[in-house]
Amino acid sequence: MNPVVVAVAITGSVPRKKDNPAVPITAAEQIESTHQAYEAGASLVHIHVRNGDESPSSDAERFAAVQAGVVRHCPGMIVQFSTGGRGRDPAQRGSSLYLKPDMASLSTGSVNFPTIVYENHTFFVRDLAAKMRDNGIRPEIEVFDLLHLHGALRLVEAGLLDDHPHVQFVMGVENALPADEHLLDLLLGELRRILPKATWTAAGIGRYQAPVMEWALQREANAVRTGLEDNIRVTKERLARNNAELVEIAGDMIARQGRRVATCDEARKILDLSGRRAV
Ligand code: MG
Repeated sequence: MNPVVVAVAITGSVPRKKDNPAVPITAAEQIESTHQAYEAGASLVHIHVRNGDESPSSDAERFAAVQAGVVRHCPGMIVQFSTGGRGRDPAQRGSSLYLKPDMASLSTGSVNFPTIVYENHTFFVRDLAAKMRDNGIRPEIEVFDLLHLHGALRLVEAGLLDDHPHVQFVMGVENALPADEHLLDLLLGELRRILPKATWTAAGIGRYQAPVMEWALQREANAVRTGLEDNIRVTKERLARNNAELVEIAGDMIARQGRRVATCDEARKILDLSGRRAV
């Protein structure tokens, strides 16, 4: 049975705590929520930090606190920092990479989001990619449009990315790519044509979380993504209790597809992180 990495995006950049109080915000809440998700089978955590009123610390201090807590309480779990964030100052977005997380998200082009243009200028993308390479951080390429795959290929050609990056297709963001099975086939076909050694996953936003996960598993995805960043509900009527509940739901779907949830060791092998520090 081909193991599947379960990635959990615990928080996100949109203030959703008022919609679901289970969304973890403080570093302590984020560490606790990640630990619950880890116990439920998640082997990768995708982290955004927020500077709320409750804390004067910088983004880097908050990332450092969450990273340290996850390393301590969730041995082997892959730590991935977000370098995204809607409306965030571009200079801030790569400012925590010196902490050398295992992975960091990397968008390779711009896209319309619900209320803003998510700007990723070519020079900025190259600068972030170089920072990741120089810090030994494995990028996760965020694909919000077909052209972002070609943005990744250009980074490979420039020596800023290896030839087997990990790629995430993001579907169902308002004004960006719809969650559509045919579109996933189209994206996947292009990925296999131009970056045949890449590993991949797909994220469905909101009510598309489950269907996108199912389509990805049916197409032998290396990983799936869940978590309260993308979706705060279990059903239309009921909010998710926590990130762990969403991880359990992902685990059930993985089993139904005849696969199993990867351990942290397996996840590190699948995503080519085995050579990184032992935690
Ligand atoms: Mg994110």
